[in-house]
Order: sequence, then C-alpha cells, then structure tokens
Amino acid sequence: MTDAVLPKGLRRARKAAARFTTPLLPDDYLLLLNPLWSVRELRGRVVKVVAETADAATLVIRPGLGWSFDHRAGQYVGIGVEVEGRFHWRSYSLTSEPRRDRRHISITVKAMPEGFLSRHLVDGVGPGTVVRLALPPG
Ligand SMILES: Cc1cc2nc3c(=O)[nH]c(=O)nc-3n(C[C@H](O)[C@H](O)[C@H](O)COP(=O)(O)OP(=O)(O)OC[C@H]3O[C@@H](n4cnc5c(N)ncnc54)[C@H](O)[C@@H]3O)c2cc1C
Repeated sequence: MTDAVLPKGLRRARKAAARFTTPLLPDDYLLLLNPLWSVRELRGRVVKVVAETADAATLVIRPGLGWSFDHRAGQYVGIGVEVEGRFHWRSYSLTSEPRRDRRHISITVKAMPEGFLSRHLVDGVGPGTVVRLALPPG
C-alpha cells in the first residue's frame, strides 16, 4: 500500500513531517498514536465479537486508512491474524453493507473442526485486537 490512498492534504503533511522525523518516518510516530494509521499495510481493529451459535461468531471490524467502503455483496476480505508471533491469513465473505455502515465491516466465521484460525477467530479474538486486512479483489 502507498500513500496514494491518502487525501492530497495529508500526503503533503506527511512529506513535510518527514523532514523532521528522519531517520524514522512520520508513519512510525503515527502508528504509536493509532495502529490503524498505517499507509504501509491495511489494518483493522476488532470492535465487537457477536456469538451467533456455539461455533460461529460475527466479527465487526473498524478498517484503517486505505479501506474505501465500496465493496459489494459476495466479495471477500483477506484477514491476517497474529498468533504466537506469526501472521495467518484466511479469506472471509463480507457480511456488512457499505451503504448502511461506512465505518465498519463484518465477517461471520464458523469454527471448523480442527481448524486453526477459524477456532481462534471465534473463541480467541476479542475487541481491540488489531488485524491485517487485504482489500476485496476487483
Ligand atoms: C473466498 C472465500 C470466502 C470464505 N468465506 C468464509 C466465510 O464467510 N466464513 C467462514 O467461516 N469461512 C469462509 N471461508 C473459509 C475460510 O477462509 C477458512 O478456510 C476456514 O475458516 C478454515 O480456516 P482454518 O484456519 O480454521 O482451517 P485450517 O486450519 O486451515 O484447516 C483447513 C481445513 O482442514 C481441516 N483440518 C485441519 N486440521 C485437521 C486435522 N488434523 N484433521 C482433520 N481435519 C483437519 C479443518 O477442519 C478445515 O476444514 C472462505 C474461504 C474462501 C476461499
């Protein structure tokens, strides 16, 4: 991801700030303030986990910079979750409607028997967890 996702004014401010923050980048400081303010990778914060059944849950996620809220029904998102120091990626269909909520997305995960990440998403991820996201293809 590049800073092309940012509004023009913010891009200019980043360039100007880089003069003062070298050798670190402005992003390094911004990330200390808010982990969702990354232009290097798309991130999201889990804000709510709603238990649907004993083995399924809906995760409501607030995406950070770079998410455009123009996804369509049927599209899926990549989600990367850190478990014991390693990121594990899986795909999940988007269950939220961008016309209704332009701040959050949601996915519904069914924990698979012996499944590694689905079980973790249903049982082990709580509000506040920061995840990586991959934009829906297309
Ligand atoms: C485009 C797309 C959209 C998707 N949308 C959704 C969605 O909306 N909701 C959803 O819940 N899932 C969805 N999936 C599936 C999801 O991406 C994951 O594959 C699923 O959650 C299982 O991940 P896991 O890490 O738990 O399983 P993994 O650990 O990767 O295991 C994969 C499979 O192998 C089986 N397995 C693993 N270990 C063993 C073992 N020792 N013995 C027997 N079986 C074993 C698991 O049960 C599982 O079925 C989607 C997949 C794609 C490609």
